[in-house]
Amino acid sequence: MKLLVKGGRVIDPENKRDELLDILVEDGKITRVGKSLKSKDAETLDAAGKIVCPGFIDIHVHLREPGFEYKEDLASGTRAAAAGGFTTVGCMPNTSPVIDNMAVARFVRERAQRSGVVNVLPIGSITKKQAGDELSEYADLLAAGCVAFSDDGRPVSKAGVMRNALEYTKMFGVPVLSHSEDLNLTADGQMHEGYYSTYYGLKGIPAAAEEVMVARDIVLARLTGGQLHICHASTAGAMELIRQAKAEGLNVTCEVTPHHLTLSDEIVGTYDTDTKVMPPLRSQEHIAALRAALLEGTIDCIATDHAPHHLESKDCEYNLAAVGISGLETAVAVIMDQLVSQNLLPLPEMVRLFTTGPANVMGLAKGRLNAGDTANITIIDPDLTKTVTPQQFYSKGKNTPFKGMQLTGWPWATIVAGKLVYINGRIIEE
Ligand SMILES: [Zn+2]
Repeated sequence: MKLLVKGGRVIDPENKRDELLDILVEDGKITRVGKSLKSKDAETLDAAGKIVCPGFIDIHVHLREPGFEYKEDLASGTRAAAAGGFTTVGCMPNTSPVIDNMAVARFVRERAQRSGVVNVLPIGSITKKQAGDELSEYADLLAAGCVAFSDDGRPVSKAGVMRNALEYTKMFGVPVLSHSEDLNLTADGQMHEGYYSTYYGLKGIPAAAEEVMVARDIVLARLTGGQLHICHASTAGAMELIRQAKAEGLNVTCEVTPHHLTLSDEIVGTYDTDTKVMPPLRSQEHIAALRAALLEGTIDCIATDHAPHHLESKDCEYNLAAVGISGLETAVAVIMDQLVSQNLLPLPEMVRLFTTGPANVMGLAKGRLNAGDTANITIIDPDLTKTVTPQQFYSKGKNTPFKGMQLTGWPWATIVAGKLVYINGRIIEE
């Protein structure tokens, strides 16, 4: 099968390309990238006016299977990913059972291959059952296809355990993805601690709850030489710590989410439980610090922390609601509309943060358009305007604070291993 992607603006940060080019795909692989390519028997995809990029990678999603299929499963979650322009996702291990052994890791991989439409890379747990005490069997999990380790959803509270995790993962050259939160400081906090938490009468979560753990983990990365990745960094102080760690030459990277870059704690005043997320939406000064860090290159990638929930766990009082946002299907449009179109982030930088950035964090040979590579391609329509309509999500999780927003700049087509899986608003089922 041949596919010719014609006339799009190709942005490929790793190869420093940004020009009008064609891409020829044959038997699932990219065979040529160049001008005025011709192929007699190829199906042509007219990409004029579109932005053609290496397949986008989201290293932080919760696909909920096994155990919580009523929230999401590998079929629905990967369709949401494809609709959001992602060709590869890293799925977190807080399933039931937890991805802490070979059998579960293999199950996720095989089930994703059968029922999924994008590449799914399982992330193994740092500790057995994510209980924070005993390390999982890393060699086994890597052999079963895991690409990194995380207890995301909860922190590794014991510093000695985190030290050992960084030491062991270093032997394998893979990162530890840290959910940096001091539970003692979070306590029963509901939103960011500041002016608005006082004003709205909700118990606050201080920025320090994140920052003390980022600081601890950086100290442990220095001690061990292990590779530390900070998940969903959301505060000015975290950015300052990560900036210093990088300047010192430590093996430290970080991600930010689209919601932390664009939404502030003020909107919690609607008491809409879809605004409840961990870490919480921060104040404007933190958002400004994240945006500055994004521009200066301190942030390695954008990740969604896609956390679909069932309606019941959000249709309740704010303090009882589950935390998390269903983010796969809005991430690109939110960044395009709120940052790129506002001249707050150059488009090629955005592409880097969704491609080579995450690929480098995870050590993946992905996120570029090289001849010979598997053809994972994301195509964006920069002029398409749509209103965020959760009822139309492929994800089972309709929980998004972006609902009703009109955004311009959406994923238009998603190609996975040479196969067109999403185009113009719909998944192509076989
Ligand atoms: Zn987390």
